[in-house]
Amino acid sequence: MTMKVLGYAAKSAQVPLAPLEFTRRDPRPDDVVMEVLYCGVCHSDLHQARNDWGVSTYPLVPGHEVIGRVTAVGKDVTKFKVGDPAGIGCMVDSCRVCQPCKQGLEQYCEEGNVQTYNGVDRHDHLPTYGGYSQTIVASQDFVLKVPAGLDLKAAAPLLCAGITTWSPLRHWKIGKGSKVAVVGLGGLGHMALKLANALGAKVTLFTRSPSKEADARRLGAHHIVLSTDDKQMAATKGQFDLIIDTVPYVHDINPYMPTLNVDGTLVFVGFLGDLSPMLNTMPLILARRSVAGSCIGGIAETQEMLDFCAKHGIASDIEMINIQDINHAYERMIKSDVKYRFVIDMASLKA
Ligand code: NAP
Ligand code: ZN
Repeated sequence: MTMKVLGYAAKSAQVPLAPLEFTRRDPRPDDVVMEVLYCGVCHSDLHQARNDWGVSTYPLVPGHEVIGRVTAVGKDVTKFKVGDPAGIGCMVDSCRVCQPCKQGLEQYCEEGNVQTYNGVDRHDHLPTYGGYSQTIVASQDFVLKVPAGLDLKAAAPLLCAGITTWSPLRHWKIGKGSKVAVVGLGGLGHMALKLANALGAKVTLFTRSPSKEADARRLGAHHIVLSTDDKQMAATKGQFDLIIDTVPYVHDINPYMPTLNVDGTLVFVGFLGDLSPMLNTMPLILARRSVAGSCIGGIAETQEMLDFCAKHGIASDIEMINIQDINHAYERMIKSDVKYRFVIDMASLKA
């Protein structure tokens, strides 16, 4: 027995998203079934819908910033009951026994984590489908509790944009006195500003968009550098302990390297692929600087981030859309015209 579910899917890389009826499994003993209320729109959804990374399988139902209400639970579920608000982020399973999994680093599972969409379930080997849909089913161990006080709509983007920026901030031990910079003010960038500021860091934004300056200050930046202005770039030297680079497409990172402190790190969370132009190692060697990468965050760390956000009154700045507007939202995302995360009101799916 399976459930018929309505969602929105890309049927190939070349066509816009359109309605699709598909099936969800009935809950296994450890599964939680959720009615999807809200789903954030990540730039990864667009990359995957259009096969930018060359690994998409179709039909593809995107959505990994999922907030919903529990409608049913399997017999072994202890963490959730019917009626609870709950969240699902970018992954729904992992092997659970390898070293990274045991350390709470399920995103780095040696067998690969199971992505919320465009993944393959470890048990029935069927494709996973994301949150642009009426319901979703996942093991309770990969479902997050939504702390009281968080607005459900504005909490959705925390499940990817929030954790993806939180994890490097925590890994590189950002706190009072740290100096952090963020490249790109979109969904991930705006969460990075808020979270770094709340952790007590001095925060700088690198942006190509002069029009975003006032917003950046409101979101938590103390300083803004126009990355297209060579003078401003040259004046920013040897400052940052950590730069979080959220830019989705290939770009020159050489101008950012001298802005790092001795031992500073530039961590990629956005672009996936070969750098061009190539990276000059001179600024790395001369000040023991690093270039790194980071992928979402573990489940416990995601819960820690949600609890931190509830405690500090942090959530995403959102623009609500109907599911029928999703293709237009993608076009605006490509133009960097998002303030600062689209969230789909999934009630619109019934319209
Ligand atoms: P977004 O909302 O579209 O924001 C990206 C921002 O980057 C834009 O607002 C823009 O900021 C800047 N930008 C865009 N194109 C650029 C270009 N060609 N050159 C320079 N700057 C550019 O995207 P997002 O949802 O934050 O996602 C960002 C990236 O992170 C995507 O590639 C996504 O797939 C990836 N991602 C990775 C993880 C992970 O686990 N590592 C998780 C989630 C998402 P300005 O206007 O300020 O310049
Ligand atoms: Zn995402």
